[in-house]
Amino acid sequence: MRYRPHATYSILRTIMALFIACGIVAFGITAILAQSAISDYNRDVIEALIFGSGPLGAEACPAHERWAGFPRGSTINVIVSTTVSNDKRHQIRSTLRQISHATHGAITVSLHITQEPEPPTGDFRVISMTHPIPTRFGCTSNVGCTHHEWQTPGVLKSSRAVQPEGQTRQAYAHDVIGHGILGMCHIQAKGIGGPHNSLMSGGLGVYSGQNSGRLTALDIAALQAVYASSLSPGATLNDFIEAGLISNP
Ligand SMILES: [Zn+2]
Repeated sequence: MRYRPHATYSILRTIMALFIACGIVAFGITAILAQSAISDYNRDVIEALIFGSGPLGAEACPAHERWAGFPRGSTINVIVSTTVSNDKRHQIRSTLRQISHATHGAITVSLHITQEPEPPTGDFRVISMTHPIPTRFGCTSNVGCTHHEWQTPGVLKSSRAVQPEGQTRQAYAHDVIGHGILGMCHIQAKGIGGPHNSLMSGGLGVYSGQNSGRLTALDIAALQAVYASSLSPGATLNDFIEAGLISNP
């Protein structure tokens, strides 16, 4: 009788060990299934959006050969100047609401409107402002651009999108959210059924006002696959290939 409790405990412990072992095995299978569930096409979408390369790549990447983004768990203060017109502010606000979902909660955002015409950059700040001469803020042309500051290669510290008044509301969302917050590159619009299928559409003959203005189902599927992995911003193309997120060339 003295040993019965011990025996029961021992059996329970064995069952628990088996359960935990099964859990680990099941988790391993789930992870493998999740990655093999990514089609070759979606791997090409991920390579284009994160590295600007592959069959759908159209370059224009914030970082050189690294996944560009803020660290997991970041809350980004998005500072939009009132120099940005109302319709563009609405577009930005609407697209910002998609970020937490698209990143599985890894990135959250807080929107602030300021009357400052040229809000200063700072840690975990992403700026959107309108200015007639974006080249004064590091852009190579006056169609506008997004300028980045880095903590380490691929890991963002801050971003600032500067665009002229004539740019479209889609271009504003593309710059401040697509490049500025999510660190994405351009994707070939012709390869994805048209520019309306991505916030990051680019390639020959594609204009800024033709992109979706919001994250599409294609963008969100790619981002969610990336954020569901064990990788973090700063990861290389090889890390993505090893994780099964990008096809081995
Ligand atoms: Zn762009």
